[in-house]
Amino acid sequence: MLRPVSATSTGAMSSSDNKPAQTLADLGITQTDQVVSLFAEVRARFDSQASRPLDLPNWEILRQSWIGRKSGALTLITENWLNPASPDLKRSVGQELNKLKAHLEATLEERKLDIESLVDQGASIRERVDLSLPGVIRPIGSHHLIRQVFQEIEDIFFSIGFSVVEGPEIETPYYNFEALNIPEFHPVRDDMDTFYLELPKGAPTPLLLRTHTSPMQIRTMEKQKPPVRVIVPGKVYRRDNPDATHSFAFHQIEGLAVDTDITFCDFTGTIEYFVKQFFGPSVKTRFRPSYFPFTEPSVEFDVSCPFCGGTGTSAGGGTCSKCKGAAWIELFGAGMVDPAVYGFVNYDAKKVSGFAFGIGIDRLAMLKYGIDDIQVFFQNDVRFLRQFP
Ligand SMILES: [Zn+2]
Repeated sequence: MLRPVSATSTGAMSSSDNKPAQTLADLGITQTDQVVSLFAEVRARFDSQASRPLDLPNWEILRQSWIGRKSGALTLITENWLNPASPDLKRSVGQELNKLKAHLEATLEERKLDIESLVDQGASIRERVDLSLPGVIRPIGSHHLIRQVFQEIEDIFFSIGFSVVEGPEIETPYYNFEALNIPEFHPVRDDMDTFYLELPKGAPTPLLLRTHTSPMQIRTMEKQKPPVRVIVPGKVYRRDNPDATHSFAFHQIEGLAVDTDITFCDFTGTIEYFVKQFFGPSVKTRFRPSYFPFTEPSVEFDVSCPFCGGTGTSAGGGTCSKCKGAAWIELFGAGMVDPAVYGFVNYDAKKVSGFAFGIGIDRLAMLKYGIDDIQVFFQNDVRFLRQFP
């Protein structure tokens, strides 16, 4: 929009528009050189207005204001300055007016072309978009290997009637330890050192990051009467220093089956089914006595080394590097649920029996896919992740 002219104006034109309000006589102009400088001033005023950034509507306002037939500045200059001018000045006023008119028209035309070419440019940029060019490629991610292994294991247990339950990663010591038959003085707590949450003074119970998915055994049995057949996939924590086989966060699938007539044979049969489904039908399983506070008896399950076919020797004749010649690989711990645990959940230990297992997902993934460092699961290096699309 046109703005009032600057304070340097002589007042030959009114300050709020471009209109010459007075006659030359009123302005005290009697000499030709005064006429020339008066027109120079008008021209400067126009130039300053025409040099501002303009769009078409503003250009039209500028044009009307200067050369509009009815009330444009040129018309008024003709009426107020030229027509009443004294014979001495008329000639020079006429000359200056013609020059001014030519300048206004030329400049306005020029500015109009500028504006139109800018508009055209915008249009031609849009026209030049080539829709046949390939678009920006946005690669679709895939599940992390750990998530894939979770899924694989869940599917195997779904197929034999287990269902999935999930529980909190922040637990109370009661669910993480005590109800699992691990009282406060129990030495096994040393192996399960974990992270405790900083709580306000006077908090009713400490809170910790669960060291295993086993608390969900208790939470499930509290809510549900037998038969129970669940698996609990999830993240667990221990205060371990990171190395090739340890991490302060890792993954487990807990399993629990409780019913009125579950035997040790059901237990080993279930585990063997799972292992053969996961590693392939040619592997063998075996179990060794072990100890966990919440199972009795407890066992450690081994699988015949899938890398050397359980021979302990590699294809080249040397010692198998995966099982170190042992032909067996330790898989995970399990056992029959300790009757003491039933006492915490109001199950009748004389009537029910069951088994539980805790599978380390990271370890199984490493074994199955030949990964020798657990840390790669947490580093998010796409060169690793892309190998498991
Ligand atoms: Zn081997």
